[in-house]
Formats: sequence, C-alpha cells, structure tokens
Amino acid sequence: MSLPEKVRPDGPEWLEFERKHLWHPYASMKNPMPAYPVKSAAGVKLAFEDGREVIDGMASWWCAIHGYNVPELNRAARSQLSRMAHVMFGGLTHEPAAGLAGKLLSIAPAGMEHVFFSDSGSVSVEVAIKMALQYWQAQSRDEKHRLLTIPHGYHGDTFGAMSVCDPDAGMHHLFTGVLPKQLFADAPTAGNDNEWDDSQIASFHSRIKTHHNELAAVILEPVVQGAGGMRFYAPEFLRQVCQLCDQYNVLLILDEIATGFGRTGAMFACEHAGIEPDIMCVGKALTGGYMTLAATLCSSRVSDGIHADFEDNKHSGVLMHGPTFMANPLACSVAIASIDLLLNSPWQQRVRDIGQQLERELAPCREMAGVADVRVKGAIGVVEMKEPVDIAAVQSQLIERGVWLRPFGKLIYTMPPYVITAEQLSRVTSAMCEAVIFSSKRV
Ligand SMILES: *Cc1c(COP(=O)(O)O)cnc(C)c1O
Repeated sequence: MSLPEKVRPDGPEWLEFERKHLWHPYASMKNPMPAYPVKSAAGVKLAFEDGREVIDGMASWWCAIHGYNVPELNRAARSQLSRMAHVMFGGLTHEPAAGLAGKLLSIAPAGMEHVFFSDSGSVSVEVAIKMALQYWQAQSRDEKHRLLTIPHGYHGDTFGAMSVCDPDAGMHHLFTGVLPKQLFADAPTAGNDNEWDDSQIASFHSRIKTHHNELAAVILEPVVQGAGGMRFYAPEFLRQVCQLCDQYNVLLILDEIATGFGRTGAMFACEHAGIEPDIMCVGKALTGGYMTLAATLCSSRVSDGIHADFEDNKHSGVLMHGPTFMANPLACSVAIASIDLLLNSPWQQRVRDIGQQLERELAPCREMAGVADVRVKGAIGVVEMKEPVDIAAVQSQLIERGVWLRPFGKLIYTMPPYVITAEQLSRVTSAMCEAVIFSSKRV
C-alpha cells in the first residue's frame, strides 16, 4: 500500500498515521479515544513526546511493579540478548526456562509442581481450561466439560476465557451462540471475613451440588476481581469453594494474573484463604511489565491425571498446546530478575504502606457527591461512582495534574508500581479526588 507523503509512518506525522491505521484496546477505528504519545519511561514516570511527565498510577495495566527502566531488569535483558533472544521450545530447552520454573514453584502454593509457559494471560487461561478438560477426558469422564464461576470476573479476551467473564460487563452478548455456556453462581458480597455469613456460599453450593457431574472445574480470581469490576470478596468464600470442589470432585483453577506477585499484600492472593488450587495462572507482573509472558501451574494430580489413560488409544496423554514463543528466553530471564528484585525488596511493607495511604487519602471521597463506594485492598485503591465516568474528559484532567490513570465504567482506580513514593502517591490520590468532583459535576 502506498501512503500519501503527508502521513509517512516514520515522519513527523506518524501520529496521524497511527490514528488512521492502528487499533487500540477496546477501541473504535472510526472514532478513537485520544492516545497520548509516550517517548520514554523511568521510575514511576512516563515522559510524553510533548515534554509533559505523568506519574503512572496504573503500572501499565498492573504489570510494572518495579516501575520503568529498572537497572536490574535492563541488565537481565541485555545479558540474555547477547546469548539468544529466542529459540523454539519444541525439542529444545534452555536454562532461563528451567530457572524461572524453579523460581515460580518455590514461591507458589506448595502443591504446584508443573509449569506451562505461554505468551499472555488469556492464553494461560485457555491452557488451564484445556488441562482441566483433558484431565477428565483421560478419566473417561468426557461429560465433565463445563466451568462454574461467579459474575464480575475477568479472565481474558480469547473465547474460552470470555465464556467465564462477567456475562453483563463482558462480551457474552456479542458472541452468544459461539461462546460455550458456562455456569454462574451468585457472587459473594462480603468484602472481608468480618462481614461474612454462610448464606453467601448458598448459591455456589447449590450449583456445584446440582451440576458436579458435568463440571470440569471452578475458575475464580482469588479475593480480588479485577477488570470485571475491581471488587474484593471475603477469603472465607474461597475457603468454602475449595472445600466444595474437593467434596464434589471438581478441579479448582485460580486466576492470579492480576493478583500475583504481591499486589494484595500476599505473594499470591490465595494465601489469604490458606488454600491451594489444582491449577493456577500467572501473568501481568511476571516480567515486571517488561515483556509478554504468562504461565499455567498445576499439581501432580492434574498432570498425572492427564496421562492416566495413556495405555488406551483414545487419549494420548499429551497436553495439546504449544505456542510459537513458548518460554521465550528473553522474557524468562527478565522474569527471573523481576522475581529476585521483588524478593530482595521490602515489598510487604511497601504494599502495606501504599494501602494505608490509599485508605487515608481516598477516605474523603466517601462523602463526595456521586460516589457509590471507596475500597482499598493491598496496593489497589478504587473509587466507584454511581454513574459511568467520561474517560477521555477525566483523563485529560488527570494529565493536567501530572497523573496517568485509565478509569473504566464507573471506576476511578489506581494500582501503582510498588516503588512509588508517598509524595508521588499523594499526587495520584489528590488527582483521583479531583476527578471524582469533576465527574460528579458532569452528570
Ligand atoms: C489481564 C488479565 C487476564 C488476561 O491477560 P492478558 O495478558 O491480557 O491476556 C486474565 N485474567 C486476569 C485476572 C487478568 O487481570
């Protein structure tokens, strides 16, 4: 395709080119939201092409837990790059993959024994679902092929993952008839164990009791539901779900893609409930936000189960998945460095301090007009409005105040890098309070 001279993608008008030709997440090509050009990033700050700087309160969609341009991660990438950027994982292997798997298993819940690397969170969820389906096929229980979950979840944008996302906020209505029909039980309303009462498990209990013979697995985000609504629920719910999964012989998949690597104050959010899943997904902060990498971990029960019927010809005993960029050495090396950096940092203290400051500084929003709820968990601060937020208008207002956030729906929230200073976080929270006032005036 020839482009008019004026919109050469490498010329000064590249922005015009990008606006015409590039799709952004959940965006219209005809009528796109503004996209701000970033020139570089360091510490917790993004530097825009026009010279402005903003504090990143999003950690680039929750990944950049150490901030940007991190010497330790740069060094790991450079050193791996000088050896090899990538080799196929089919029939070949390398130390970065083994090293990262070892590191992951050493911090994951005790029962996790095996690791499958993939290139994004959504794919790691597909792999988790596949593991569960193949597990039951190998036991000659093919009828156990459905999933049970709760509303307000988010597990990714691929088709299997979409089928267990929130049925209203998610994309079910666009793909009805294409998406597998999964089962949903009522979501718990208690935000923590103090508010818990056993009636909150009733719907889940009745669902699993009625349908366990067709259920392969339960899939949940532990304790924090992220992109489906930034909701927190009581660890007791998870404890009881885990018990019921055991009782009714249904596998438990925990999606720790958003919650993993300390975000909620525990290394993995399932630790708040003291439970272990059969299958667990990690992604997002795995490489400290440097590269795309995810992993599906499972217990020996699951991997042994997939091989159970190896003798008969119907089931081959192999897990049928194999991404081209599986276990990419560059990404694995950076992930090892990121986990080391996390483990050698006072991350628990940092997350606790961020949480306490968010509590203090977002508390005034509780009294503001148009606010439905204010909630904090670990290093996550959420203001839920009563009405949807005008994202583009709020965003340009936030940028004026030197802060980068991406509100969605009725939610104005922050998930900052753990290395954010108290002073920088105060700028984020005061910008959030102003965004709340601004939003409530507009409706
Ligand atoms: C972001 C996210 C995913 C999807 O990960 P991608 O890397 O965007 O495919 C899945 N589950 C949860 C809980 C997430 O937050």
